[in-house]
Amino acid sequence: MWHLRERLMRFMYGRYGIDQLYYAMSALCFLLLIVNSFLRSPVLAIIMWLVLALTLSRALSKNIYKRRRENEAFMNLWNRAKKKILFTVRRVKEIRSHRYHRCPHCKAMLRLPYKRGKHTVQCPRCNNEFKKHVII
Ligand SMILES: [Zn+2]
Repeated sequence: MWHLRERLMRFMYGRYGIDQLYYAMSALCFLLLIVNSFLRSPVLAIIMWLVLALTLSRALSKNIYKRRRENEAFMNLWNRAKKKILFTVRRVKEIRSHRYHRCPHCKAMLRLPYKRGKHTVQCPRCNNEFKKHVII
């Protein structure tokens, strides 16, 4: 058993290994596997095997710099999506008390207390005023 572990460590030396993109691609493979167990599509099965092969080839790759850049690009995308989802959840949670509006001058997102009717809003960022009509 010790020999096997040492051989594996020696094999992985200088290779990229596992990162966040690896986990995401593995999750995608698992999701495709579950969906395909219902649909039984050969095209979906091929896509799943290709994603799996790509995942493993990334983990075993010796081009560490390129793999790291791919992971950074993925993390940028992931963080932007996560931020949007969390903001949407917050908007839904505060739907009874607040509304979010974008300032037409500086494009800043403003969190305003919910009051029906016409209002004049002063942006705290650029100090410009704009009119807002809250209907719902
Ligand atoms: Zn503004």
